Amino acid sequence: MLKWHGPDWTNHLTMYMIDPRHPMYEEERAAEGWAMWDRLMSWGDEIVARVLEVAGPDTIVGLVSDHGGGTMLPGLNERVDANALLAERGWLIRDQTGAIDWSRSKAYAVAHYVYLNVKGRDPQGIIEPASREYTALREEIIETLLSTTDGDGRHLYRAVLPMEVAGRLGVGGERVGDIFMLPAEPHPLAEIDKEAFWATHTREETGTWDWPRLNAGSHLDDAYFVLAGPGVRRGFQRPRPTLITSVTPTLAVAWGVPVPADADGSVLWEFLV
Ligand SMILES: [Zn+2]
Repeated sequence: MLKWHGPDWTNHLTMYMIDPRHPMYEEERAAEGWAMWDRLMSWGDEIVARVLEVAGPDTIVGLVSDHGGGTMLPGLNERVDANALLAERGWLIRDQTGAIDWSRSKAYAVAHYVYLNVKGRDPQGIIEPASREYTALREEIIETLLSTTDGDGRHLYRAVLPMEVAGRLGVGGERVGDIFMLPAEPHPLAEIDKEAFWATHTREETGTWDWPRLNAGSHLDDAYFVLAGPGVRRGFQRPRPTLITSVTPTLAVAWGVPVPADADGSVLWEFLV
């Protein structure tokens, strides 16, 4: 297995070079930005070409990405601070230093999850697991997050689910929280106000075109999965997305080895001859 991080890192560092919507975009330098991206992606082509050459014709080669990339547009892609929402409702309590007071906090958020502060699981848990209190609180938090809107009346979350329901989306494991949250993406027609941006930001914060300080790239859910080799249908394109958990079972069947017992994705039979 070979992992190439180039596109991700470059996406974070340089999307303003090629996306006219970004305030740091400079029309007269766009060709330079595209040339750099061309160079980067051609390295990707070289990597794939070399792998195919070394692997030979009787090897199945898979190209997988775990996420896609977009542009982080300042002001539009602001992350929702779920902990601030929890604090507003008194579910998360901080002491004078700003640290979480675990003896009184009932819930906290990390990344895509809200965790209730559960006895026996969390070091200073105060909520009895599988109790009426647990169920009622979790439901109340879900309702609150679902109904929270921004200044334009747009919902901040596209989905907020109890963990056992979110399992259908392919999320799970021992470290997941009690609630899974899917924040809303910016409105597809939303535009960034560049004048307003430059009225409130300095070059000191943003850095320059040649030496940026902003994260200009964002992660998108959509990625790709390309398969080539013996037993794989040539030129087939699946019309709708699948989950990354399908990769391992599909590769296993293509190789003619047993699907791992702990793989919970499905085999994409339509990829195979
Ligand atoms: Zn990244």
